[in-house]
Amino acid sequence: MAHISPNTPLHQLTKTKPERLRALERELGLKTWGDLIAHLPHRYIDRSSFTKISDIGQNSSTDEQKDIQVVGSIVRMQEVGVRPRRLEAYIDDGTGSAKLVWFKGAQWIKKMITTGEKYVVFGRPNFFHGQTNFAHPEVERLSLFRTKQKSAMLGVYPSTELLTKMGLDGKKIGTFIQNLLFRHKPAFVETLPISLLQKNDLLPLQDAIYQVHAPTDKEILQRAWHRLKYEELFYMQLRLLLRKKRNNEHIAGFVFGNVGHYFHTFYEKHLSFPLTSAQKRVIREIRYDMQSGRHMNRLLQGDVGSGKTIVAFMCMLLAIDNGYQSTLIAPTEVLAKQHFHSLREWAEAIGIHIALLTGSTKAKRRTEIHAGLQGGITHIIIGTHAILEETVRFARLGLAIVDEQHRFGVAQRSRLWKKSQTPPHMLVMTATPIPRTLAMSLYGDLDVSVIDELPKGRKPIKTMHMYEENRKRVYDTIHRELKKGRQAYIIYPLIEESETLDFENIEKGYEVVQQYFTDYTIATVHGRLPVEEKDEQMKRFEEGKAHIMVATTVIEVGVNIPNASIILIESAQRFGLSQLHQLRGRVGRSDHQSYCLLSTPYQLSADGRVRMQTMVETTDGFKIADVDLKLRGPGEIEGTQQSGVINLKAADLRTDYAVMSIARNDAQEILDLDPKFEQETHLPIRHTLNSKHEGKFTWSMIS
Ligand code: ADP
Ligand code: MG
Repeated sequence: MAHISPNTPLHQLTKTKPERLRALERELGLKTWGDLIAHLPHRYIDRSSFTKISDIGQNSSTDEQKDIQVVGSIVRMQEVGVRPRRLEAYIDDGTGSAKLVWFKGAQWIKKMITTGEKYVVFGRPNFFHGQTNFAHPEVERLSLFRTKQKSAMLGVYPSTELLTKMGLDGKKIGTFIQNLLFRHKPAFVETLPISLLQKNDLLPLQDAIYQVHAPTDKEILQRAWHRLKYEELFYMQLRLLLRKKRNNEHIAGFVFGNVGHYFHTFYEKHLSFPLTSAQKRVIREIRYDMQSGRHMNRLLQGDVGSGKTIVAFMCMLLAIDNGYQSTLIAPTEVLAKQHFHSLREWAEAIGIHIALLTGSTKAKRRTEIHAGLQGGITHIIIGTHAILEETVRFARLGLAIVDEQHRFGVAQRSRLWKKSQTPPHMLVMTATPIPRTLAMSLYGDLDVSVIDELPKGRKPIKTMHMYEENRKRVYDTIHRELKKGRQAYIIYPLIEESETLDFENIEKGYEVVQQYFTDYTIATVHGRLPVEEKDEQMKRFEEGKAHIMVATTVIEVGVNIPNASIILIESAQRFGLSQLHQLRGRVGRSDHQSYCLLSTPYQLSADGRVRMQTMVETTDGFKIADVDLKLRGPGEIEGTQQSGVINLKAADLRTDYAVMSIARNDAQEILDLDPKFEQETHLPIRHTLNSKHEGKFTWSMIS
């Protein structure tokens, strides 16, 4: 037998037509044996059980979407009609009969079928005038079916329209892979230590691979998947933990040993509210990191409104107390300015120099800021990506905080590091909670702090789902709040009318709002406004001079105006869950009861309905994040694209949290015990990590 490796091109293994192989490569990226073996079914059809014909269609809505299998005698067969001439047959299994129809290949099928004999019929049923039909089913003589059937479950693989046309639909790809497996019978070198196989009762790699492609029964199939998921997540976590360890060991961190003047003065004299115990705990964790001599790389998770900004500020004070500068970087200009305004008040109270740098900072001011940072006079610089530019240099940057991380690429994070010989301590703050599995994969190399408590006295925001058709009721609700002296946000998803005219348009919306709320002043902010105008509008709302803020989602992250107690989100179905949650978080920032109104049309997709319902039912950001991940899948969630988590082959971040946690613990244990994988039993790990295929697929090493 020829030597097969993961890199063996498919054309060396099969006589399949070159154009089909080219299509496999172009359409699915399957070029080598390793690629093909790592192409896994996305579902299976159970070919081990039969449906009674009388049971078909009992719940027709679901049955119509599924392939099923019946066994019975062909009782009648006839050719009918002209153009199209078709072949019809009836199968009877004793409980009822179903009609089989072929428009093509009738001659061939007619020859194959003998009336009176028993056949297995496989296909997707539909119903006409009380009759169960199968169009173009697969038919096989029962005796043959019994001897030929290699696997109980038939894998259906991802395919494409073009491949289907070339005879490689989801099922045929499976046959193709099975044929190659059984013809070449390759062996797969075990990639996990035997100790882990035993501890977790995992199938050997060899069995797992054969079973996922050609399962012998359902139970073992599940174990095969479990093994592949575990392996994939184990190596993912091992790599992250290795990176974290390297970071800890090799990158020295500034030692912030003092808790000094600024921190104490602020804490004792200027902090106007008691910190929550979660905030205190998190500050302690960060302080401990920054005095350890190791480089801090920490993720701060906290729900909307949990008070991350004050934590960030107090950590910056720790840096300043030790003679270092700090920076806080936000994803949008609006947010950077907000941060600047609130932090400036705190900073100036204790004599700290703080500056703002964004894309729209004027050249003259920019020069001053550059000088202030290089001269070490400016302690804190707040801003947008503008801070990352080459020309911005620091005298002693000690702490860099990135707010609302999920909008901030990994590459940008690393540019910050280059701003000083020793990289600054890094604190990454998220806007909304991230599902646990995703956090563990995106930020698995970071330490994590969680603020899991809202400041005292906050009342949960009341959320209501209303229909656009009841606009008057919606506006009346807003009116009630305005009368109490509160302020309101009205949010629109789009700036301009799109090609489909069914979305709300902010300009039109603005006019409607103006007509209705004649006694109140309205501000507006959207992407098209010049910066000065935006600032002016924001300021009017902040100072209470405007009562209503009509805005697009530029307002989404971070904006903090505690007197605003009601937010109306127009065309709410256009928003994803985390965005809705983030928007809702603009209210409920004081002890006033706050409200969130979600306005949608009556007509909603199922998915849209789940989103509205979830928002109405819970204000818990972690729960919302989980639902979001289930609805959208990891690929649609910001920050996942670059990270590679969406390329997982076997594991599914939506459902595999348990496996991931076990795999991570196992990886950590091995790393603690034998960090270089020198023990005999850990050799497979060393091989796998060193293999050329690292990160692509670990389990296609073939001897
Ligand atoms: P987020 O975590 O969403 O960024 P912010 O930091 O903007 O939240 O805080 C929301 C509001 O709560 C701000 O007005 C802030 O001053 C206030 N706040 C923060 N911590 C506390 C606390 N411990 N007690 C009372 N109010 C607090
Ligand atoms: Mg914030």
